[in-house]
Amino acid sequence: MSTPLSVSFEFFPPRNDDMERTLWESVERLAPLAPRFVSVTYGAGGTTRERTHATVARLVAETALQPAAHLTCVAATRADIDAIVEEYWSAGVRHIVALRGDALAGPGATYEPHPGGYAYTHDLVEAITRRGGFEVSVSAYPERHPDSPDWDTEIALLKAKRDAGATRAITQFFFENDLYFQYVERVRKAGIDIPIVPGILPVQNFAQVANFAKRCGSSVPEKLARRFEGLDGDQQTRALVAAAVCAEQVEDLRARGVSEFHFYTMNRANLVYAICHLLGLRPQHLQKAA
Ligand code: FAD
Repeated sequence: MSTPLSVSFEFFPPRNDDMERTLWESVERLAPLAPRFVSVTYGAGGTTRERTHATVARLVAETALQPAAHLTCVAATRADIDAIVEEYWSAGVRHIVALRGDALAGPGATYEPHPGGYAYTHDLVEAITRRGGFEVSVSAYPERHPDSPDWDTEIALLKAKRDAGATRAITQFFFENDLYFQYVERVRKAGIDIPIVPGILPVQNFAQVANFAKRCGSSVPEKLARRFEGLDGDQQTRALVAAAVCAEQVEDLRARGVSEFHFYTMNRANLVYAICHLLGLRPQHLQKAA
């Protein structure tokens, strides 16, 4: 019998009222699929920080979902970060996705550790682990992080994050499953035993995804480009193709033994809901604990 399926969903904090409505409609639609956790991304600027906090606090207060708050090392002292961790704790959050983050100028700009901050992810993971009580997840890069000089360094950094206390790694999105399996093989050879959960990005808008992928170091196979060819102005067909393409990817991962998936929802529920349905997930009735 295959291992039971487990999914998690990633959201980003909304920037205006319309986005807020879309987010909470999506949360409501996806919640009955009983995700293991739902994560909320984090930006280093003051206002985005507050939006992350407000979103996770509302998830705790109004839903039965387990939120995971993302946190980066960027542009903050250790005391700032420690205070944010305590705020998450007080809000009822018990899971943090710990990251280095990008330079404030954006991906591609040179990352400089804050002089009084946690320099890299493993320092942050260590601090959260020392504080205690949190589950800590980290990132993983099946195609290497764009800043990483070689595979040995890439894998050694993941090992440092595991050794500092991380119990799960969530991958950057990828479209070629073989790359994921080759990566997992490298990870296991290095003695890293934590789950490497594939991060799945359903393609809501091919042009945007291709652009984003370039900045993240994720490759976009020619086959994927061909499947979306000529559909830029045809949203309905695009959605159908996106569901078919993503279902094919996750079903192949599932057939090859993967049982845990993390979906980058982009705050939209329909595609993710359909793909989870195809994977065999059905709505369950969730109740907020009294
Ligand atoms: P790491 O994997 O820890 O390291 C990235 C690179 O930093 C390494 O390749 C290496 O070149 C260098 N490095 C790391 N440690 C050391 C060291 N000890 N010495 C020297 N060099 C080192 N970004 C956000 O801003 N907010 C988010 O909420 C967010 N969520 C994400 C969730 C997931 C699952 C993923 C995959 C990415 C997310 N990102 C987010 C993007 C992420 O912040 C960027 O990819 C960033 O460039 C790297 O952060 P990391 O924690 O993945 O880095």
